[in-house]
Amino acid sequence: MADVLVICEVKDGKLKKSSREALTIGRQLAAAAGGSLNAFACGSSAAAAAAEAGSFGVATLHVAGDAALDAYASEHWTSAAKFAVEASSAAIVVMSATSAGRDLAPRLGARLGAGVASDVVALEWADGKLRARRPVYSGKAFATVEIGSNPAIATCRANAFPAEATGAGACEVSNLAWSAGDTKAKLVAVNVPETTEVSLADADVVVSGGRGLKETANYAMIHDLAHALGGATGASRAIVDDGWVDHHHQVGQTGRVVSPNLYIAIGISGAIQHLAGMSSSKHIVAINKDGEAPIFRVADLGVVGDLFQILPPLIEEIKKAKAH
Ligand SMILES: Cc1cc2nc3c(=O)[nH]c(=O)nc-3n(C[C@H](O)[C@H](O)[C@H](O)COP(=O)(O)OP(=O)(O)OC[C@H]3O[C@@H](n4cnc5c(N)ncnc54)[C@H](O)[C@@H]3O)c2cc1C
Repeated sequence: MADVLVICEVKDGKLKKSSREALTIGRQLAAAAGGSLNAFACGSSAAAAAAEAGSFGVATLHVAGDAALDAYASEHWTSAAKFAVEASSAAIVVMSATSAGRDLAPRLGARLGAGVASDVVALEWADGKLRARRPVYSGKAFATVEIGSNPAIATCRANAFPAEATGAGACEVSNLAWSAGDTKAKLVAVNVPETTEVSLADADVVVSGGRGLKETANYAMIHDLAHALGGATGASRAIVDDGWVDHHHQVGQTGRVVSPNLYIAIGISGAIQHLAGMSSSKHIVAINKDGEAPIFRVADLGVVGDLFQILPPLIEEIKKAKAH
């Protein structure tokens, strides 16, 4: 029997979508391991997420309600998460591979002497061990790894797991006696750029543009198509480096890793470093004038042609279809 603890991220009293996905796989692991599903959330609005956590099958939500935990800060979160893992006696610890999760998991692993599988796309409990499937070599191959430590930690790639509530009732809240204490680093401010755009990490549809767009003004077509589809905008590193688009739109090895339902790559060659950030998307559409471009090797649907001919009528047709 092994209990599961899912480390959740809560914003304004609500679980982030990536945390709902982590809870869903956590519930399946708990069922397979014959243990219970518990969760940890921190910050002043964490306890408000109890009802929602309960609807995902969580038995106990461990809460560290200190306002010092409202925004992600490595030192505080690592200390509080370690406290929660020890309080819950979890053998399996799962969190999402968000910016916070990617930073937290290895720190927590080091503190607990636990093995960590990062950015996993599949998880199972087999022969008393946590088994994870994860991309390696920039997504060129997948490795299946087993974690022999107790606890075993995994971070889940966003959108790789469905988020399915069971409709169960509210869970119990256990307030942890954790306090911030002395820390070497103090979070002074968080500056979030104001945007009305769909978040790249959570988007169901991502439309990305590359150097084939020729110049910065033409990125407006990527915005138009993404907007028409209700999706987020992405970019290759080439146009980020050229200053056309901010880095937070970059998809790839040194940018964001996304797994949307639909990824549309426009004027992007498909270098391995770009593929590392999007090849686990459910459906991939590529538009490129070079029929030999590597992006077509991962595309489910490829359009060989000039994006300047293809995009304007495509955007118009989608807008018309959406208007009906
Ligand atoms: C350590 C390292 C890390 C990296 N990290 C990343 C990363 O995170 N993300 C990333 O994207 N890259 C990354 N790169 C860069 C990567 O190797 C490529 O250089 C980059 O992805 C290329 O961007 P691109 O496809 O937009 O440009 P190009 O390779 O120049 O491709 C442009 C494409 O547009 C097509 N095209 C041109 N005109 C048209 C038209 N009119 N209609 C249709 N198609 C057209 C061309 O056929 C071509 O395929 C990294 C590189 C290194 C070394």
